[in-house]
Amino acid sequence: MSGLPILTVSGLKKSFGALEVLKGVSLSVAEGEIISIIGPSGTGKSTLLRCINYLERPTAGVIAIDGVSVDASRSRRRDVYALRRKAAMVFQNYNLFRNKTALENIMEPMTQVQKVPCGEAREEAERILKVIGLFDKRDVYPAHLSGGQRQRIGIGRAMAVRPRVMLFDEPTSSLDPELVNEVLEVIRQLASEHRMTMLIVTHEMRFAQEISDRVLFMDNGGIALEGTPQEIFGGDNPRVRKFVGSVA
Ligand code: ADP
Ligand code: MG
Repeated sequence: MSGLPILTVSGLKKSFGALEVLKGVSLSVAEGEIISIIGPSGTGKSTLLRCINYLERPTAGVIAIDGVSVDASRSRRRDVYALRRKAAMVFQNYNLFRNKTALENIMEPMTQVQKVPCGEAREEAERILKVIGLFDKRDVYPAHLSGGQRQRIGIGRAMAVRPRVMLFDEPTSSLDPELVNEVLEVIRQLASEHRMTMLIVTHEMRFAQEISDRVLFMDNGGIALEGTPQEIFGGDNPRVRKFVGSVA
């Protein structure tokens, strides 16, 4: 990592009952850095992202984003709220409101969570719709959008809270293959034009290779290997090779 860390995870552990899913994950992410997280299913990739955003309460460890630090052993509600506002998650299944238009879906986090006045939220949502290439769909309901368009709205909703870090949990894995690219293109644009700091859990290996500054290979509840895309994808680690072979 080079540059100042905007996100640090220290000694993160998470158990569900007797099942220890994260066994002490530590990680530092520089501002503007793009990290892909790959690895077999069930290894705790989603749990890691959810803990970073405190959608799941860690069993132990410290999460710090942009000056807000929360220690699981003595977290205060106010700090958790502050931390949550620093990061935004893009889910596999869009999480859109069916009874709201594209524009309203993007306005909602601003008006409801951040209490931004309606006119200001509308202006910002229109700006975001242009970034994600869906300004012409602003008055359309999700039912009339393609999966790729819905996911671009999902990304728009995440952008609306002006996060310092964006967390993507397999953002294209519920899409038909022909719709994957338009979503990856929006993510590429966030990287290149907006210098957004991003953690992306993905099975799109070529995308991960192209976009990432760093790739983490997770296995058995920890970061088994990390390196540049070249080191990870060009290396000879048998576990990584087996995994990459299985999703290619
Ligand atoms: P991945 O995203 O790498 O596929 P997950 O983080 O979703 O893995 O899950 C890791 C493990 O934690 C799995 O064994 C899963 O069944 C378990 N798990 C995840 N969420 C919960 C939960 N809310 N309650 C109980 N077990 C869970
Ligand atoms: Mg997952």
